Amino acid sequence: MNPDRRPLIAANWKMHKTLGEAVAFVESIQEQTGPCADREVLIAPPFTALRGISGKLSLHGYSLGAQNCHWEQKGAFTGEISAAMLKDMGCAYVIVGHSERRQLFGETDETVRLKTSAAIGAGLAPVVCVGEALEERERGDAFEVIGRQLEGAFQGLGPERMNGVVIAYEPVWAIGTGRTATPGQAQEVHAFIRSRISSIFGKAIEKSVRILYGGSVKPSNVDALMAEPDIDGALVGGASLEVGSFKSLIQFNV
Ligand code: PEP
Repeated sequence: MNPDRRPLIAANWKMHKTLGEAVAFVESIQEQTGPCADREVLIAPPFTALRGISGKLSLHGYSLGAQNCHWEQKGAFTGEISAAMLKDMGCAYVIVGHSERRQLFGETDETVRLKTSAAIGAGLAPVVCVGEALEERERGDAFEVIGRQLEGAFQGLGPERMNGVVIAYEPVWAIGTGRTATPGQAQEVHAFIRSRISSIFGKAIEKSVRILYGGSVKPSNVDALMAEPDIDGALVGGASLEVGSFKSLIQFNV
């Protein structure tokens, strides 16, 4: 982490938790951690719990986010939810291009670009996910893949629209597998992402953009990951589902 960027610990609950379970979790985690001054906590529950917990995330430093959005503002798109609707629910963030959406639901660099732009247009901060598959890493193509995903997501955006945008590096081989990138492996990719962002948007955005690491982050590895200079937080699946483990992540120590 770098003291100039406020660390962000984000919970991606995926398709877990009923409304009652979500409310109980946010009440308990806030009670146990208290307000966060020097770090930010993001909870991204399923759509069905957004309304129920938006008023309950009342402590300083806690924010609400969604896991996906559509790029159109409204229309005949059965089953979809727009970025403006998420804003209306109290969201500050939306995750875009998670690898599960890319792999299971046909998300492409083009739809990630459309969603990123729609989120910014609606006043949300997108958390844009990038990351290579295992075969791509083994072939030595990780940087090329991630570079292409970044160019795809941000094509046509000017630096003036990048304020608040978050990037998450999530190697696909580390998500939900228990295999974590080593801090050194993650730092190498984060530094690459930051330099690519610098060449697209310039020095100011390079310095301010927060880049999260995601992929089997847990209490036992969070401190070492957060000690790396270009790792500004974590996007967490499994370990965000229990109050005890998520509390340890929020309270990381470097
Ligand atoms: C994720 O879903 O973004 C993720 C990183 O999951 P996990 O922490 O379970 O690997």
